[in-house]
Amino acid sequence: MDESNARKLIIEVGKLLYERSYVVSSDGNVSIRLDENRVLATPTMTCKGRMTEDCLAITDLDGNALNDKKASSELAMHTLIYKMRPDIKAVCHAHPPHGTAFAVAGLAIDAPILSEVILTLGCVPLTDYGTPSTNELTDAMKPFVEHHNALLMANHGAVAYGADLWQAFDRLETLEHTAKISILSRALGGANDLPKDAISKLINIREKAGYLPAQARCQACGYLDEAGITCEHDAVSDSAFQIPFSGGGEITFTREELIELLSQVANNRN
Ligand SMILES: [Zn+2]
Repeated sequence: MDESNARKLIIEVGKLLYERSYVVSSDGNVSIRLDENRVLATPTMTCKGRMTEDCLAITDLDGNALNDKKASSELAMHTLIYKMRPDIKAVCHAHPPHGTAFAVAGLAIDAPILSEVILTLGCVPLTDYGTPSTNELTDAMKPFVEHHNALLMANHGAVAYGADLWQAFDRLETLEHTAKISILSRALGGANDLPKDAISKLINIREKAGYLPAQARCQACGYLDEAGITCEHDAVSDSAFQIPFSGGGEITFTREELIELLSQVANNRN
């Protein structure tokens, strides 16, 4: 993307993030992939509502500075996503209050309560807690980046990404709106899930229309299990379960194998 337009866009989205209270103080960070090896990113310790076009940092995909500005300390979250997802050109990280409340409560946003959210965003998994600005955070995100376009990070916040910055921002906004509606419906006595057949129809529509690929049917989608929709990606090695043995060595099971084994054990007990 043209650098001058990218600068304008980041300032505009930064203001929106701040005005909508998705960030306060110097929270959050935004970036755009300018070309194969250059990222334009928000600077460290700067309020996203008060940035200027000349304050933005440029780095390579390993986070090394390519101009005299210091990028956000959480840039590794962005570069991880760019490396794992060639289709992604922009990343938006913030602490929107309702979405972050889910992350603090240890909850994913994965209940099948809103048809449009199933169509356009899919479920938002919760990744394990990792200390910000360290490998812990990016390691916790890795298993989920490929199959999702937005993630919650435990006791921290949310990150959303897309083919351009508006799509990344829209996904973050949908995440926050869904979390808000979910909390409000719980206060009114509880949310009603969509029925299984309605979920199947929505998944079919979203894949036919190209809103989300089949990869979005993933290990973390609670409602796919509930609707009996299988996910071929469950068996991939990065979601395999490794069980270490005290005698040395370890055995790796896929999710299906582990479930089968555990149900055999349970049946033997009965
Ligand atoms: Zn953060």
